[in-house]
Formats: sequence, C-alpha cells, structure tokens
Amino acid sequence: MGAPIVSVVCYCDDCQEGARQIEALPNATSFRDADGGTPLLTYRDDRFSCSAGEDLLVSYKIREGAPTRRVVASCCNSAMFLKYRPGFWVSAYRARFEGDLPPLEMRTQIQHRRADADLPRDVSCYRGFPMRLFAKLIAARVSMLLGR
Ligand SMILES: [Zn+2]
Repeated sequence: MGAPIVSVVCYCDDCQEGARQIEALPNATSFRDADGGTPLLTYRDDRFSCSAGEDLLVSYKIREGAPTRRVVASCCNSAMFLKYRPGFWVSAYRARFEGDLPPLEMRTQIQHRRADADLPRDVSCYRGFPMRLFAKLIAARVSMLLGR
C-alpha cells in the first residue's frame, strides 16, 4: 500500500459515535486508544484495496444521510476502514495493521476529546482539522492527477 497520506488520531464526535456503535456489535473489540481517540492511517483510493474477504464487508453510517460510512468485517465485527463519500481517500483503522507502522503525525479534533484523561504531548494537537492536514490531502490529490 505504500506510505499513507497521513497518520492521525481523530477525536471528532463522528469518529467517537461511530466507534461506540461498532463496539456495540456482537463480539466486536475496541479499536480506539484508552482516551477515546481513533488511530487512522489515511491512504489514497488508488493505493488502497482489500486483500481478502471483500464479500464480508458491511457498511455502517452513524445516522441516515451521513457522508461517511464505516466498514466492518461482518465475520468478527472488526472495524476495517472509514470512507468519506466526497473524498479520494480511505482512512483505515490502525488497529487492523501489524508490524512496523508509520509514526503518528497529529491529533485532530481534540475539542471533542474527553476531558478526564491527560492529553498526550507526543505530536501536535489541533482543535479541529488543521491546514497541515488539508495541505497533505491536496498534495496527494495533485500527485494522483499527475499520475504519480
Ligand atoms: Zn474523526
């Protein structure tokens, strides 16, 4: 799959609600950090594919009309990835990866983070989605359009 566009932990209310709903499915295990953040590795659409078991994937939306669907392996109710409909990227749940993983780059939407746990100061934290994140997405889009 190559390098991700970005490696983040997201605390937005949609990620938290999506995780709550998926974790409530039978046999599901948590794929979040202890402080409620969701670690994600974001890949270009053209660099992301399912190696096996695609027919077992089921999509969930946190509410009707939501632009994002969260995809779960129906055999074990493991959260696999999330897909924001207008976007050209896929955000895969870091919990599904093994081995040497890209380092975490930023924590986003900490305005929605639970206040009762200390905020890790390992990487930059942002109240919303920072320009730094959009710049990475734009750069990835330009590369895709140039066929690189
Ligand atoms: Zn989020």
